[in-house]
Amino acid sequence: MKCSGAPLKYTFISEDRVVRAGTRSKTEIEYFSNNGVLFSVPIVSEKARMLFQQRDIKTHYNRILTAIDPGKRVATFTTPDGLEEQNWDFIHVVPPMKAPESVRNSPLPWQSGPWAKEGWMEVDKGTLRHLRYPNVFGVGDIAGVPKGKTAASVKWQAPVAIDHMVADITGKPSDAVYNGYTSCPMITKLGQAMLIEFDYQNNLTPSFPGVIAPLEELWISWVMKTMGLKPTYISMLRGKA
Ligand SMILES: Cc1cc2nc3c(=O)[nH]c(=O)nc-3n(C[C@H](O)[C@H](O)[C@H](O)COP(=O)(O)OP(=O)(O)OC[C@H]3O[C@@H](n4cnc5c(N)ncnc54)[C@H](O)[C@@H]3O)c2cc1C
Repeated sequence: MKCSGAPLKYTFISEDRVVRAGTRSKTEIEYFSNNGVLFSVPIVSEKARMLFQQRDIKTHYNRILTAIDPGKRVATFTTPDGLEEQNWDFIHVVPPMKAPESVRNSPLPWQSGPWAKEGWMEVDKGTLRHLRYPNVFGVGDIAGVPKGKTAASVKWQAPVAIDHMVADITGKPSDAVYNGYTSCPMITKLGQAMLIEFDYQNNLTPSFPGVIAPLEELWISWVMKTMGLKPTYISMLRGKA
């Protein structure tokens, strides 16, 4: 899974919806994580676990969705102890993620290691330069690096790659390094979010220290996500940000 914040937000928002609809007492919400945590940064994973507990969202770990029977409304998970079936009325599924075919079937992916199977590009995690083809760089989700699978990361990755390309062309060295910056504006309710930012070392790297606390559910973080970041992402797509 590329962005583990995405299904967490979805779960929080769904819970909020049934609370607002007055049907929470008739609803059971369960979250099945494919691995042993809820988020790759331990302190964020623990925060999400606590919020799930407070909001009576049952959590299961190491459950890999293996099959769905839509007629019977049964999901089958592979677990360390064998197969497990789960009934559902409504299910939200995160598909297994991998690089697009054009990259997967090229010489560019990692040849071994944790990112080889999904076909992510073999780049240096700091310079984003390909380790075997030095005139190739990888930014965005395609980059086979330990963090950084968010649109916000691309904003910090692209200038690093460009700096190295310009340095190559002009024959000068570049010391530009991408530190793994990743941002996850995690909506926990309509009107509340946690603006979580971190780097390769799992350090929290808040852009507004003293103003926006990363692990607090705040209205200002929600405003920033819905009114600030969305137009920024759209501007990025148009090459304006
Ligand atoms: C539910 C969800 C919520 C998210 N929320 C956030 C968030 O709040 N903040 C944030 O920063 N990030 C968020 N992300 C992550 C963010 O969407 C991605 O990290 C970002 O889109 C990656 O950009 P990209 O350009 O690398 O890849 P993509 O956006 O996947 O773009 C790749 C493009 O290449 C195209 N393509 C593929 N193959 C070919 C081909 N052969 N020829 C031509 N084109 C091709 C694809 O169609 C696609 O348009 C979220 C992701 C999800 C799924």
